[in-house]
Formats: sequence, C-alpha cells, structure tokens
Amino acid sequence: MARDCENCGSPSDVLVPVLRVYITPETWDAPGSSRTLDTPEAWCLPCVSMYPAEVIGEPTD
Ligand SMILES: [Zn+2]
Repeated sequence: MARDCENCGSPSDVLVPVLRVYITPETWDAPGSSRTLDTPEAWCLPCVSMYPAEVIGEPTD
C-alpha cells in the first residue's frame, strides 16, 4: 500500500528512511556548511536522488 513521502508528499510504494541534510551554500563572506537533522523521515526514491539526505536504512514497501 502506498504511503506519502515525508518530503514531497507524493504517495510512493517504496520509501527510504533518511536523515535530511541542510546544505548552506558558500557565499562571499561565509564558507559553506551542512547540517544533518536527527529526526528520521521516509522519502520516496526520487527525493532521495534529488535532495541531500543521509540514507539510514533499507527501502521499505
Ligand atoms: Zn518524495
């Protein structure tokens, strides 16, 4: 049964447990950085491939 992706909200048959990563781009006065959230979310495969995230488990269906 399809469940909703927690990133884009689309129903997906396969969801991947991830930790969302926020990336701050480098600017003229500050270096770039990234921050990983500690709350697991379930994302669909397109979101995992398009957005920065740390995969923390096997895809589930
Ligand atoms: Zn998604």
